[in-house]
Amino acid sequence: MTTGDGAARPPLPPLREVIARHGLSASKALGQNFLLDGQLLDRIARVPGPLDDRTVYEVGPGPGGLTRALLGAGARVVAVERDDRCLPALAELGDAYPGRLRVIADDALKIDEARQAGAGAHIVANLPYNVGTALLVRWLTAPEWPPFWASLTLMFQKEVAERIVAVPGSDAYGRLAILAQWRAQARLAFTVHRSAFVPPPKVTSAVVHLVPAAQPPGVTVRTIEALTAAAFGQRRKMLRQSLKGLPGALDALAAVGIDPARRAETLPVEAFVAVARVMDGG
Ligand code: SAM
Repeated sequence: MTTGDGAARPPLPPLREVIARHGLSASKALGQNFLLDGQLLDRIARVPGPLDDRTVYEVGPGPGGLTRALLGAGARVVAVERDDRCLPALAELGDAYPGRLRVIADDALKIDEARQAGAGAHIVANLPYNVGTALLVRWLTAPEWPPFWASLTLMFQKEVAERIVAVPGSDAYGRLAILAQWRAQARLAFTVHRSAFVPPPKVTSAVVHLVPAAQPPGVTVRTIEALTAAAFGQRRKMLRQSLKGLPGALDALAAVGIDPARRAETLPVEAFVAVARVMDGG
């Protein structure tokens, strides 16, 4: 095996042995479902594109399976892990790739990752569902745009991945699709069967890849969020009903020529952005 820059990968013990030697029994409370299949891990590491000498910010490295694949692809990795039991295993991995892995023992929801990882970092993570969604929303709602991150490669439950890439008219289409597709180009890279994880979770997972889009000027996150919360709060109702409590929304709808008898789930992302722009006085 070679790294992205053609150098040989250092020999490493099998992940199962690392897990056994460090007593890393999977903790349910921390949402631990480990990936051990090297080919699958390499496939995930290829999703962001070439990583030679790029910085990757990895959330939740656990025993380091995905971290190995990222380092093997030539990346420098800044990883944040909440479970201190994983730190000795990650330190061994750091020894195998001197100067290329920095581990932060902390909660990813609490740290300033832009400062830790720096501008232009690719973010890659296989995270528990609730943490992953919270971080995705945080990364998509950053006030400054374009954001510090160059791309996001994130493992989710397939059902959540489908909500991120959903198209109008589908049941999965809603607030998350609009936020993600307003601020990024989002695609579902591939699905991962539950049997690939140890222990297997209850449902199929999927890897989603997002690249920041140019943000249309004159629209604030606050207005997009308020608009989509009201519109999808009553998704089966006509917009004239669901938006009537949101100041300025019905006037903005009229100003951009959208029929108030339509329902939120029929409106494309651009229509929400156009309405929000009028509400923001743009
Ligand atoms: N990346 C490894 C893999 O693919 O096998 C582990 C994935 S496991 C699904 C999720 C990892 O995220 C665990 O190691 C867990 O301890 C860690 N984790 C959970 N919540 C976290 C948080 N708030 N901050 C940092 N790490 C967290």
